[in-house]
Amino acid sequence: MDQNSKLIEAAKEIIKYGKKLTKAGVIGAQEGNLSCKVGDVILITPSAMAKDELQPEQMAVLDLEGNWIGGPHKPSSESAMHVAMYKMRPDVTAIVHTHSPYCTAFAMSGEPVDIRNSAEFAIFYRKVPVIPYGEPGTHAIYKGMSKELVDYDTLLLENHGVVSVGKDLCDASSKCSTLELVLRTYTINRQLFPNRSNDLSQRELEKLWKFGRSCKHGIPQPAKKTTASISEQYI
Ligand SMILES: [Zn+2]
Repeated sequence: MDQNSKLIEAAKEIIKYGKKLTKAGVIGAQEGNLSCKVGDVILITPSAMAKDELQPEQMAVLDLEGNWIGGPHKPSSESAMHVAMYKMRPDVTAIVHTHSPYCTAFAMSGEPVDIRNSAEFAIFYRKVPVIPYGEPGTHAIYKGMSKELVDYDTLLLENHGVVSVGKDLCDASSKCSTLELVLRTYTINRQLFPNRSNDLSQRELEKLWKFGRSCKHGIPQPAKKTTASISEQYI
């Protein structure tokens, strides 16, 4: 497949997941942004355009330094953050940033998310750090991110929202949308049972986290000797 065909396919993927996230209520109106890295360029959603109405040819194209090199519309205002994150994590090829309600509500607290009574949270996240507030659309937004991004794929942006990285758009999108659901469920749990947290043991939490890592972002790898028994135990 030539580079142009790859870019068109990637643009279609961005549109597909933009629609899914909008439908799921994770992205609203013209907010949030999605990008993917294709060879030596980055495709990113244009600024202030509804993600569920985009056409492939409307996507903005950046070089790996963040220069706007293609597409008819101005790139997302958070382009600098996406470019910086691709530099921090060369293994990453997709990034999704949203202002989904529960993730953003937790980000507004300024506290990292450390839920200990949810197996799903332990498998997918273990912890979600919060990056100190930086003005949206500026370089300040990703200041302090490099240390946390080494170990975590999903980060809260204080007083702002959430961002996830992944090996593709499916991976990055699911990390954002799954966290939104987990935090919603956790909030209901706290409301219904404020005096009963029923936390899992530290040993169990570590076990679940290791299982999640062995599956590489929750997607099981080709069978190895130990995979079958672990899968039977948890899936
Ligand atoms: Zn934002």
